[in-house]
Amino acid sequence: MFDSLSDRLGGILDRLKKRGALTEADVGEAMREVRRALIEADVALDVVRSFTDKVRTRAVGAEVVKSVTPGQMVVKIVHDELVAMLGSDAKPIDLEAAPPVPVLMVGLQGSGKTTSTAKIARRLKDRAGRKVLMASLDTRRPAAMEQLATLGKQVSVDTLPIVAGQSAVQIARRAMEAARLGGFDVVMLDTAGRVTLDEALMAEVAEVKAATGPHEVLLVADSLTGQDAVNTAKAFDARVGLTGIVLTRADGDGRGGAALSMRAVTGKPIKLVGTGEKMDALEDFDPRRIAGRILGMGDVVSLVEKAVENIDAEKAMAAAERMRKGNFDLEDLRMQLEQMEKLGGLGGLMGMLPGIGKLKNQMANANLDDKVIRRQKAIIDSMTKKERRNPKLLDASRRKRIAAGSGTKVEDVNKLMKMHRQMADMMKAMGASAGGKRGGPMAG
Ligand code: GDP
Repeated sequence: MFDSLSDRLGGILDRLKKRGALTEADVGEAMREVRRALIEADVALDVVRSFTDKVRTRAVGAEVVKSVTPGQMVVKIVHDELVAMLGSDAKPIDLEAAPPVPVLMVGLQGSGKTTSTAKIARRLKDRAGRKVLMASLDTRRPAAMEQLATLGKQVSVDTLPIVAGQSAVQIARRAMEAARLGGFDVVMLDTAGRVTLDEALMAEVAEVKAATGPHEVLLVADSLTGQDAVNTAKAFDARVGLTGIVLTRADGDGRGGAALSMRAVTGKPIKLVGTGEKMDALEDFDPRRIAGRILGMGDVVSLVEKAVENIDAEKAMAAAERMRKGNFDLEDLRMQLEQMEKLGGLGGLMGMLPGIGKLKNQMANANLDDKVIRRQKAIIDSMTKKERRNPKLLDASRRKRIAAGSGTKVEDVNKLMKMHRQMADMMKAMGASAGGKRGGPMAG
Protein backbone atom coordinates (compact mmCIF):
# COMPACT_ATOMS: atom_id res chain seq x y z
CA MET A 1 0.00 0.00 0.00
CA PHE A 2 2.85 2.37 0.74
CA ASP A 3 5.24 1.20 -1.98
CA SER A 4 5.21 4.21 -4.20
CA LEU A 5 5.22 6.70 -1.31
CA SER A 6 8.04 4.74 0.23
CA ASP A 7 10.09 4.97 -2.97
CA ARG A 8 9.50 8.69 -3.24
CA LEU A 9 10.31 9.55 0.36
CA GLY A 10 13.27 7.20 0.33
CA GLY A 11 14.77 9.02 -2.65
CA ILE A 12 14.26 12.47 -1.18
CA LEU A 13 15.71 11.55 2.20
CA ASP A 14 18.59 9.61 0.70
CA ARG A 15 19.77 12.74 -1.05
CA LEU A 16 19.42 14.73 2.15
CA LYS A 17 21.21 12.12 4.18
CA LYS A 18 24.28 12.24 2.01
CA ARG A 19 24.89 15.92 2.70
CA GLY A 20 27.23 16.81 5.49
CA ALA A 21 25.61 20.12 6.22
CA LEU A 22 22.13 21.41 5.48
CA THR A 23 20.99 24.92 4.73
CA GLU A 24 17.48 26.15 5.29
CA ALA A 25 17.07 26.16 1.51
CA ASP A 26 18.04 22.46 1.34
CA VAL A 27 15.41 21.62 3.91
CA GLY A 28 12.81 23.81 2.18
CA GLU A 29 13.41 22.08 -1.14
CA ALA A 30 13.21 18.64 0.42
CA MET A 31 9.97 19.56 2.18
CA ARG A 32 8.42 20.70 -1.10
CA GLU A 33 9.23 17.28 -2.52
CA VAL A 34 7.87 15.51 0.55
CA ARG A 35 4.70 17.55 0.22
CA ARG A 36 4.26 16.52 -3.38
CA ALA A 37 4.87 12.87 -2.54
CA LEU A 38 2.23 12.92 0.22
CA ILE A 39 -0.33 14.66 -1.97
CA GLU A 40 0.23 12.06 -4.66
CA ALA A 41 -0.31 9.38 -2.02
CA ASP A 42 -3.77 10.95 -1.52
CA VAL A 43 -3.09 12.25 1.97
CA ALA A 44 -5.57 14.96 3.04
CA LEU A 45 -4.22 18.43 2.24
CA ASP A 46 -4.51 19.78 5.78
CA VAL A 47 -2.62 16.80 7.07
CA VAL A 48 0.15 17.27 4.50
CA ARG A 49 0.47 20.94 5.34
CA SER A 50 0.69 20.42 9.05
CA PHE A 51 3.13 17.55 8.61
CA THR A 52 5.58 19.45 6.43
CA ASP A 53 5.31 22.56 8.63
CA LYS A 54 6.20 20.55 11.71
CA VAL A 55 9.11 18.79 10.03
CA ARG A 56 10.42 22.04 8.57
CA THR A 57 10.31 23.84 11.91
CA ARG A 58 12.18 21.08 13.66
CA ALA A 59 14.61 20.53 10.79
CA VAL A 60 15.84 24.12 10.68
CA GLY A 61 16.01 24.30 14.45
CA ALA A 62 18.80 23.71 16.88
CA GLU A 63 18.04 20.01 17.10
CA VAL A 64 19.50 19.44 13.65
CA VAL A 65 22.26 22.02 13.72
CA LYS A 66 23.79 20.44 16.78
CA SER A 67 23.22 16.92 15.61
CA VAL A 68 25.66 14.25 14.63
CA THR A 69 24.77 14.41 11.00
CA PRO A 70 22.06 16.83 9.96
CA GLY A 71 20.71 14.76 7.07
CA GLN A 72 20.21 11.75 9.29
CA MET A 73 18.60 13.88 11.93
CA VAL A 74 16.07 15.09 9.36
CA VAL A 75 15.31 11.47 8.49
CA LYS A 76 14.67 10.86 12.17
CA ILE A 77 12.40 13.92 12.40
CA VAL A 78 10.40 12.81 9.35
CA HIS A 79 10.11 9.39 10.95
CA ASP A 80 8.94 10.80 14.29
CA GLU A 81 6.38 13.09 12.70
CA LEU A 82 5.14 10.23 10.55
CA VAL A 83 4.66 8.17 13.68
CA ALA A 84 2.80 11.06 15.30
CA MET A 85 0.61 11.46 12.22
CA LEU A 86 -0.24 7.76 12.32
CA GLY A 87 -1.19 7.95 15.99
CA SER A 88 2.04 7.29 17.94
CA ASP A 89 1.25 4.08 19.74
CA ALA A 90 -0.50 0.93 18.62
CA LYS A 91 -4.01 0.83 20.02
CA PRO A 92 -5.22 -2.72 20.38
CA ILE A 93 -8.85 -3.60 20.83
CA ASP A 94 -9.79 -2.81 24.40
CA LEU A 95 -11.83 -5.48 26.16
CA GLU A 96 -11.27 -4.29 29.71
CA ALA A 97 -14.84 -4.47 30.95
CA ALA A 98 -17.15 -6.91 32.62
CA PRO A 99 -18.02 -9.77 30.27
CA PRO A 100 -19.77 -10.16 27.99
CA VAL A 101 -18.08 -7.17 26.34
CA PRO A 102 -20.01 -5.92 23.31
CA VAL A 103 -18.03 -4.86 20.24
CA LEU A 104 -20.01 -3.07 17.56
CA MET A 105 -18.85 -3.36 13.96
CA VAL A 106 -20.11 -0.63 11.61
CA GLY A 107 -19.41 0.45 8.06
CA LEU A 108 -20.56 0.59 4.48
CA GLN A 109 -21.58 -2.50 2.57
CA GLY A 110 -18.66 -4.18 0.85
CA SER A 111 -16.07 -2.57 3.11
CA GLY A 112 -15.16 -5.97 4.54
CA LYS A 113 -17.21 -5.68 7.73
CA THR A 114 -18.39 -9.27 7.99
CA THR A 115 -15.01 -10.67 7.03
CA SER A 116 -13.28 -8.44 9.58
CA THR A 117 -15.77 -9.39 12.28
CA ALA A 118 -14.87 -13.05 11.85
CA LYS A 119 -11.14 -12.29 11.62
CA ILE A 120 -11.24 -10.36 14.87
CA ALA A 121 -13.33 -13.04 16.61
CA ARG A 122 -10.83 -15.65 15.53
CA ARG A 123 -7.93 -13.61 16.79
CA LEU A 124 -9.56 -12.93 20.17
CA LYS A 125 -10.25 -16.61 20.55
CA ASP A 126 -6.83 -17.84 19.44
CA ARG A 127 -4.57 -15.18 20.88
CA ALA A 128 -6.42 -13.98 23.94
CA GLY A 129 -8.32 -17.14 24.74
CA ARG A 130 -11.65 -15.33 24.76
CA LYS A 131 -14.93 -17.05 24.26
CA VAL A 132 -16.57 -15.07 21.48
CA LEU A 133 -20.13 -14.96 20.17
CA MET A 134 -20.87 -13.31 16.82
CA ALA A 135 -24.24 -12.01 15.68
CA SER A 136 -25.31 -10.50 12.36
CA LEU A 137 -27.78 -7.64 12.67
CA ASP A 138 -28.32 -7.34 8.93
CA THR A 139 -32.07 -7.95 8.84
CA ARG A 140 -32.41 -6.95 5.21
CA ARG A 141 -29.90 -9.35 3.78
CA PRO A 142 -30.34 -12.95 4.90
CA ALA A 143 -27.25 -13.76 2.83
CA ALA A 144 -25.19 -11.57 5.15
CA MET A 145 -26.39 -13.55 8.17
CA GLU A 146 -25.53 -16.79 6.48
CA GLN A 147 -22.14 -15.47 5.46
CA LEU A 148 -21.32 -14.76 9.11
CA ALA A 149 -22.53 -18.21 10.17
CA THR A 150 -20.34 -19.81 7.51
CA LEU A 151 -17.29 -17.81 8.57
CA GLY A 152 -18.06 -18.67 12.20
CA LYS A 153 -17.87 -22.37 11.37
CA GLN A 154 -14.68 -21.81 9.48
CA VAL A 155 -12.94 -20.14 12.41
CA SER A 156 -14.73 -22.19 15.10
CA VAL A 157 -16.50 -19.24 16.68
CA ASP A 158 -20.14 -19.46 17.74
CA THR A 159 -22.75 -17.39 15.95
CA LEU A 160 -26.14 -16.46 17.34
CA PRO A 161 -28.87 -18.68 15.85
CA ILE A 162 -30.82 -16.80 13.19
CA VAL A 163 -34.44 -15.99 14.10
CA ALA A 164 -36.50 -14.52 11.28
CA GLY A 165 -38.49 -11.32 11.72
CA GLN A 166 -36.49 -9.68 14.51
CA SER A 167 -35.22 -6.10 14.35
CA ALA A 168 -31.55 -5.25 14.66
CA VAL A 169 -32.01 -4.06 18.23
CA GLN A 170 -33.92 -7.22 19.16
CA ILE A 171 -31.17 -9.40 17.75
CA ALA A 172 -28.53 -7.38 19.60
CA ARG A 173 -30.40 -7.77 22.91
CA ARG A 174 -30.83 -11.46 22.30
CA ALA A 175 -27.10 -11.79 21.57
CA MET A 176 -26.19 -10.11 24.85
CA GLU A 177 -28.60 -12.31 26.75
CA ALA A 178 -27.31 -15.48 25.09
CA ALA A 179 -23.75 -14.40 25.87
CA ARG A 180 -24.57 -13.85 29.55
CA LEU A 181 -26.22 -17.23 29.79
CA GLY A 182 -23.52 -19.01 27.79
CA GLY A 183 -20.58 -17.49 29.66
CA PHE A 184 -19.15 -15.66 26.64
CA ASP A 185 -16.45 -13.02 27.09
CA VAL A 186 -17.07 -10.98 23.95
CA VAL A 187 -20.05 -10.34 21.67
CA MET A 188 -19.24 -9.14 18.18
CA LEU A 189 -22.21 -7.35 16.64
CA ASP A 190 -22.02 -7.12 12.85
CA THR A 191 -24.40 -4.33 11.87
CA ALA A 192 -26.01 -3.90 8.46
CA GLY A 193 -24.22 -1.86 5.83
CA ARG A 194 -25.50 0.32 3.02
CA VAL A 195 -23.89 1.12 -0.27
CA THR A 196 -23.84 4.78 0.70
CA LEU A 197 -24.21 6.63 3.96
CA ASP A 198 -27.83 7.21 4.84
CA GLU A 199 -29.74 8.37 7.85
CA ALA A 200 -31.74 5.14 8.25
CA LEU A 201 -28.50 3.19 8.62
CA MET A 202 -27.08 5.69 11.09
CA ALA A 203 -30.27 5.68 13.14
CA GLU A 204 -30.25 1.91 13.34
CA VAL A 205 -26.61 1.79 14.41
CA ALA A 206 -27.26 4.47 17.02
CA GLU A 207 -30.20 2.51 18.36
CA VAL A 208 -28.18 -0.70 18.66
CA LYS A 209 -25.42 1.22 20.36
CA ALA A 210 -27.82 2.70 22.90
CA ALA A 211 -29.32 -0.74 23.57
CA THR A 212 -26.03 -2.59 24.11
CA GLY A 213 -23.51 0.02 25.34
CA PRO A 214 -20.59 -1.38 23.33
CA HIS A 215 -17.07 -1.08 24.70
CA GLU A 216 -15.67 -0.67 21.21
CA VAL A 217 -17.38 0.77 18.13
CA LEU A 218 -15.17 -0.12 15.19
CA LEU A 219 -15.65 1.32 11.74
CA VAL A 220 -14.56 -0.98 8.96
CA ALA A 221 -13.32 1.11 6.03
CA ASP A 222 -11.88 0.17 2.67
CA SER A 223 -8.43 1.69 2.19
CA LEU A 224 -8.86 1.55 -1.59
CA THR A 225 -11.49 4.29 -1.34
CA GLY A 226 -8.86 6.75 -0.09
CA GLN A 227 -10.25 9.97 1.32
CA ASP A 228 -13.80 8.59 1.06
CA ALA A 229 -12.86 6.16 3.80
CA VAL A 230 -11.77 9.09 5.95
CA ASN A 231 -14.99 11.00 5.22
CA THR A 232 -17.06 7.92 6.05
CA ALA A 233 -15.26 7.68 9.36
CA LYS A 234 -15.94 11.35 10.06
CA ALA A 235 -19.65 10.90 9.34
CA PHE A 236 -20.01 7.77 11.47
CA ASP A 237 -18.09 9.32 14.30
CA ALA A 238 -20.23 12.45 14.27
CA ARG A 239 -23.46 10.47 14.30
CA VAL A 240 -22.74 7.43 16.47
CA GLY A 241 -19.27 7.89 17.93
CA LEU A 242 -16.37 5.56 17.06
CA THR A 243 -13.58 4.14 19.19
CA GLY A 244 -11.41 2.94 16.33
CA ILE A 245 -10.98 1.97 12.71
CA VAL A 246 -10.33 -1.32 10.94
CA LEU A 247 -8.77 -0.52 7.57
CA THR A 248 -9.28 -3.27 5.00
CA ARG A 249 -7.62 -4.12 1.68
CA ALA A 250 -4.22 -2.91 2.76
CA ASP A 251 -3.02 -5.70 0.46
CA GLY A 252 -4.47 -3.81 -2.51
CA ASP A 253 -2.78 -1.11 -4.52
CA GLY A 254 -4.20 1.83 -2.59
CA ARG A 255 -1.93 4.80 -2.26
CA GLY A 256 -1.95 4.92 1.49
CA GLY A 257 -3.79 8.21 1.87
CA ALA A 258 -6.57 6.73 4.01
CA ALA A 259 -4.14 5.12 6.41
CA LEU A 260 -2.02 8.25 6.63
CA SER A 261 -4.86 10.76 7.06
CA MET A 262 -7.30 8.78 9.19
CA ARG A 263 -5.89 9.54 12.60
CA ALA A 264 -5.08 13.17 11.92
CA VAL A 265 -8.47 13.96 10.37
CA THR A 266 -10.79 11.93 12.59
CA GLY A 267 -8.77 11.67 15.79
CA LYS A 268 -9.64 7.97 15.82
CA PRO A 269 -6.91 5.33 15.88
CA ILE A 270 -6.61 2.68 13.22
CA LYS A 271 -6.55 -0.43 15.37
CA LEU A 272 -6.30 -3.20 12.83
CA VAL A 273 -5.53 -3.64 9.18
CA GLY A 274 -7.01 -6.24 6.83
CA THR A 275 -4.41 -7.64 4.48
CA GLY A 276 -6.29 -10.24 2.47
CA GLU A 277 -9.38 -12.39 2.16
CA LYS A 278 -8.15 -15.20 4.36
CA MET A 279 -9.18 -15.34 8.01
CA ASP A 280 -5.65 -14.82 9.28
CA ALA A 281 -5.06 -11.77 7.10
CA LEU A 282 -5.35 -9.25 9.91
CA GLU A 283 -2.56 -7.18 11.44
CA ASP A 284 -2.20 -4.76 14.30
CA PHE A 285 -1.70 -1.22 13.15
CA ASP A 286 1.53 -0.16 14.76
CA PRO A 287 2.49 3.42 13.78
CA ARG A 288 6.17 2.87 14.52
CA ARG A 289 6.43 -0.24 12.43
CA ILE A 290 4.48 1.34 9.59
CA ALA A 291 6.56 4.52 9.60
CA GLY A 292 9.66 2.33 9.56
CA ARG A 293 8.28 0.39 6.64
CA ILE A 294 7.38 3.54 4.72
CA LEU A 295 10.78 5.14 5.17
CA GLY A 296 12.72 1.91 4.96
CA MET A 297 15.37 3.64 7.03
CA GLY A 298 15.19 1.90 10.35
CA ASP A 299 18.95 1.79 10.42
CA VAL A 300 19.28 5.54 10.28
CA VAL A 301 16.57 6.10 12.85
CA SER A 302 18.14 3.75 15.34
CA LEU A 303 21.59 5.15 14.61
CA VAL A 304 20.41 8.62 15.50
CA GLU A 305 18.68 7.31 18.60
CA LYS A 306 21.88 5.57 19.60
CA ALA A 307 23.89 8.71 18.96
CA VAL A 308 21.63 10.78 21.14
CA GLU A 309 22.08 8.23 23.91
CA ASN A 310 25.83 7.84 23.53
CA ILE A 311 27.15 11.27 22.98
CA ASP A 312 27.97 13.26 26.00
CA ALA A 313 26.69 16.56 24.67
CA GLU A 314 28.56 18.77 27.12
CA LYS A 315 31.89 17.13 26.45
CA ALA A 316 31.23 17.16 22.75
CA MET A 317 30.35 20.84 22.66
CA ALA A 318 33.43 21.74 24.66
CA ALA A 319 35.61 19.74 22.30
CA ALA A 320 33.92 21.29 19.28
CA GLU A 321 34.64 24.71 20.72
CA ARG A 322 38.31 23.81 21.14
CA MET A 323 38.47 22.56 17.58
CA ARG A 324 37.01 25.79 16.31
CA LYS A 325 39.84 27.63 17.96
CA GLY A 326 42.29 25.39 16.18
CA ASN A 327 43.28 23.32 19.21
CA PHE A 328 42.61 19.94 17.69
CA ASP A 329 45.18 17.61 19.23
CA LEU A 330 45.56 13.85 19.20
CA GLU A 331 43.48 13.45 22.36
CA ASP A 332 40.64 15.04 20.44
CA LEU A 333 41.27 12.79 17.49
CA ARG A 334 41.16 9.79 19.77
CA MET A 335 37.84 10.88 21.22
CA GLN A 336 36.59 11.43 17.69
CA LEU A 337 37.63 7.91 16.71
CA GLU A 338 35.88 6.55 19.78
CA GLN A 339 32.64 8.29 18.88
CA MET A 340 32.86 6.85 15.40
CA GLU A 341 33.29 3.42 16.83
CA LYS A 342 30.26 3.85 19.10
CA LEU A 343 28.15 5.08 16.26
CA GLY A 344 29.30 2.36 13.96
CA GLY A 345 30.44 4.81 11.35
CA LEU A 346 31.49 8.30 10.51
CA GLY A 347 30.02 11.13 12.46
CA GLY A 348 30.47 12.04 16.05
CA LEU A 349 31.70 15.42 16.94
CA MET A 350 32.45 16.49 13.45
CA GLY A 351 28.79 16.70 12.63
CA MET A 352 28.62 19.62 14.96
CA LEU A 353 30.96 21.67 12.89
CA PRO A 354 29.88 23.60 9.84
CA GLY A 355 31.03 22.60 6.37
CA ILE A 356 31.96 19.18 7.52
CA GLY A 357 30.77 17.29 4.45
CA LYS A 358 34.04 17.59 2.60
CA LEU A 359 36.05 16.41 5.55
CA LYS A 360 33.81 13.46 6.06
CA ASN A 361 34.12 12.40 2.47
CA GLN A 362 37.83 12.57 2.88
CA MET A 363 37.67 10.32 5.89
CA ALA A 364 35.35 7.98 4.12
CA ASN A 365 37.88 7.77 1.34
CA ALA A 366 40.51 6.94 3.92
CA ASN A 367 38.47 3.82 4.53
CA LEU A 368 37.87 4.30 8.18
CA ASP A 369 36.36 0.98 9.03
CA ASP A 370 36.38 -0.55 12.50
CA LYS A 371 39.73 -2.25 12.03
CA VAL A 372 41.39 0.95 10.90
CA ILE A 373 39.83 2.87 13.76
CA ARG A 374 41.12 0.34 16.28
CA ARG A 375 44.61 0.53 14.81
CA GLN A 376 44.59 4.31 14.93
CA LYS A 377 43.47 4.29 18.51
CA ALA A 378 46.29 1.89 19.35
CA ILE A 379 48.78 4.25 17.75
CA ILE A 380 47.52 7.18 19.78
CA ASP A 381 47.55 5.04 22.92
CA SER A 382 51.25 4.34 22.39
CA MET A 383 52.06 8.01 22.60
CA THR A 384 52.89 9.85 25.77
CA LYS A 385 50.40 12.39 27.01
CA LYS A 386 52.77 15.16 26.03
CA GLU A 387 53.02 13.85 22.48
CA ARG A 388 49.26 13.64 22.19
CA ARG A 389 48.84 17.22 23.30
CA ASN A 390 51.66 18.42 21.08
CA PRO A 391 51.99 16.36 17.90
CA LYS A 392 54.89 18.49 16.71
CA LEU A 393 57.12 16.53 19.09
CA LEU A 394 56.76 13.42 16.95
CA ASP A 395 60.08 13.12 15.14
CA ALA A 396 61.27 10.05 13.26
CA SER A 397 62.61 8.19 16.28
CA ARG A 398 59.47 8.79 18.32
CA ARG A 399 57.34 7.58 15.42
CA LYS A 400 59.41 4.43 15.20
CA ARG A 401 58.92 3.80 18.92
CA ILE A 402 55.16 4.38 18.62
CA ALA A 403 54.84 2.04 15.64
CA ALA A 404 56.64 -0.69 17.56
CA GLY A 405 54.54 -0.06 20.66
CA SER A 406 51.26 -0.28 18.78
CA GLY A 407 52.24 -3.18 16.56
CA THR A 408 51.94 -1.06 13.41
CA LYS A 409 54.29 0.33 10.82
CA VAL A 410 55.85 3.75 10.69
CA GLU A 411 53.77 4.41 7.55
CA ASP A 412 50.64 3.87 9.59
CA VAL A 413 51.82 6.41 12.13
CA ASN A 414 52.66 8.82 9.34
CA LYS A 415 49.27 8.33 7.78
CA LEU A 416 47.54 9.05 11.05
CA MET A 417 49.61 12.16 11.59
CA LYS A 418 48.81 13.37 8.10
CA MET A 419 45.11 12.81 8.65
CA HIS A 420 45.29 14.64 11.93
CA ARG A 421 47.06 17.60 10.37
CA GLN A 422 44.52 17.84 7.57
CA MET A 423 41.65 17.68 10.01
CA ALA A 424 43.21 20.26 12.30
CA ASP A 425 43.83 22.63 9.38
CA MET A 426 40.35 22.24 8.07
CA MET A 427 38.80 22.74 11.45
CA LYS A 428 40.86 25.83 12.04
CA ALA A 429 39.74 27.25 8.70
CA MET A 430 36.13 26.42 9.40
CA GLY A 431 36.34 27.77 12.90
CA ALA A 432 37.61 31.06 11.52
CA SER A 433 34.89 31.30 8.91
CA ALA A 434 32.18 30.42 11.42
CA GLY A 435 33.48 33.27 13.54
CA GLY A 436 33.28 31.13 16.63
CA LYS A 437 29.52 31.39 16.77
CA ARG A 438 27.50 28.36 17.60
CA GLY A 439 24.84 27.01 15.40
CA GLY A 440 26.38 26.17 12.08
CA PRO A 441 25.10 26.91 8.62
CA MET A 442 21.41 26.93 9.41
CA ALA A 443 21.53 29.33 12.29
CA GLY A 444 21.25 32.33 10.05
P1 GDP B 1 -19.23 -6.35 4.09
O1 GDP B 1 -20.29 -6.14 3.08
O2 GDP B 1 -18.68 -5.06 4.57
O3 GDP B 1 -19.59 -7.25 5.19
O4 GDP B 1 -17.99 -6.99 3.28
P2 GDP B 1 -17.47 -8.48 3.29
O5 GDP B 1 -16.89 -8.82 4.60
O6 GDP B 1 -18.52 -9.37 2.76
O7 GDP B 1 -16.25 -8.36 2.28
C1 GDP B 1 -16.44 -8.05 0.91
C2 GDP B 1 -15.30 -8.70 0.11
O8 GDP B 1 -14.06 -8.12 0.46
C3 GDP B 1 -15.15 -10.18 0.39
O9 GDP B 1 -14.90 -10.82 -0.83
C4 GDP B 1 -13.93 -10.25 1.28
O10 GDP B 1 -13.23 -11.47 1.13
C5 GDP B 1 -13.13 -9.10 0.78
N1 GDP B 1 -12.23 -8.56 1.81
C6 GDP B 1 -12.50 -8.19 3.08
N2 GDP B 1 -11.41 -7.72 3.70
C7 GDP B 1 -10.39 -7.79 2.82
C8 GDP B 1 -9.00 -7.44 2.85
O11 GDP B 1 -8.44 -6.96 3.84
N3 GDP B 1 -8.28 -7.68 1.72
C9 GDP B 1 -8.85 -8.19 0.59
N4 GDP B 1 -8.07 -8.36 -0.47
N5 GDP B 1 -10.14 -8.51 0.52
C10 GDP B 1 -10.91 -8.32 1.61
